[in-house]
Amino acid sequence: MGKFTYKDIYIEDGKKVLEVNVLPEKYCNFDCIFCPIGRSPKKVDTQMTFDGFQESMQYLENMIERTKPELIFINSKGEAFVHDRIAEIIGFIKSKDLPVKLLSNGYLLGDATYREIANMCDEVIGEIKVITEEDFQKVQRPIEGYTLEEYISNMVSFNKQYTGKFIFEITIVKGYNDDEASVQKLKEVTKSLSPSKVIVVRMEDEPFKKKLGISDERYAEITQALLSE
Ligand code: SF4
Repeated sequence: MGKFTYKDIYIEDGKKVLEVNVLPEKYCNFDCIFCPIGRSPKKVDTQMTFDGFQESMQYLENMIERTKPELIFINSKGEAFVHDRIAEIIGFIKSKDLPVKLLSNGYLLGDATYREIANMCDEVIGEIKVITEEDFQKVQRPIEGYTLEEYISNMVSFNKQYTGKFIFEITIVKGYNDDEASVQKLKEVTKSLSPSKVIVVRMEDEPFKKKLGISDERYAEITQALLSE
């Protein structure tokens, strides 16, 4: 069965999607207080070797043959770039004539090696969750030395040269970016990024929803503000 894990196949935008996680446990360069996967025991932004690669690739091939997806979504437990064979995984999927969508928090898109890997993908998702430097450090707890300014500029510089579809996912977090000034700043960041698509989400799952979730009404207002020109 290998070490990758899969979600049940689903349809999105009319396409059959196979979603795969390539990491055996959480490896991320951030340690967000609201991470749905839990704490980051050790923050990483360099590549690592994981066991069972050949077996995992064989199983991926079987999954593709069995489920006949139209898109593979690499959505991992943390940051997929830290898998030292990620380029090979993407290359293998592409060799099956299948498009690849990759989820990253977006910080590493400023690094030349990871940028080349992301360039192999048809779609890349980058994210933003808070809008001040202080909140970035406090709430997303990145590797020491990371800054929000660099985070945004990494995504901007990536998308300037990327020819695929860059999807920008904005998470609205109550008390952090749901006020008017923050929404305005998020709008400016979105403009500087000029993504192909913007997705606005909010804290939907407990235990975070209760404290950090916003109302349906506010969510609708913010979404409209962020998606309007
Ligand atoms: S960036 Fe995503 S995976 Fe990483 S700690 Fe934050 S919420 Fe979790």
